[in-house]
Amino acid sequence: MKDLRIQGLKKSPWVFHVAAASCNNCDIEILDLITPRFDVERFGIVLVGSPRHADALLVTGVLNRKSLPRVLRVYEQTPKPCLVIGIGSCTCDIHIFKNSYNVVGPYGKHLPVDVFIPGCPPKPEAMILGIVKALSKL
Ligand code: SF4
Repeated sequence: MKDLRIQGLKKSPWVFHVAAASCNNCDIEILDLITPRFDVERFGIVLVGSPRHADALLVTGVLNRKSLPRVLRVYEQTPKPCLVIGIGSCTCDIHIFKNSYNVVGPYGKHLPVDVFIPGCPPKPEAMILGIVKALSKL
């Protein structure tokens, strides 16, 4: 049963977008993914409205004291196995807010991130490549 689910997940991953504390540029690039130009639905990648329906989380922005518990709650609500894909340099811990008093450290310390996609913001093509890479880890 688990093998069947992983096979289905590879063919059509449903993704939930989590904006931790981003500047919104990464989020706008994620929206580009579902526009007719990139149209990721042709690969079966569907943006869903609830983490309970998702196979993968697309996380943007830095983790700070306020966003951390919310991001962890979303992760807990997502059925496992679930992929976590960090979008943008903020998730890679190379960002302008690094020494800010409110930032609680790198993602790897708090969440099992499968793939990081650097860029400020990364291009939609890079995001598609990152999602495919994450799927190949299953
Ligand atoms: S990586 Fe850049 S574009 Fe993305 S949320 Fe961080 S500052 Fe904004």
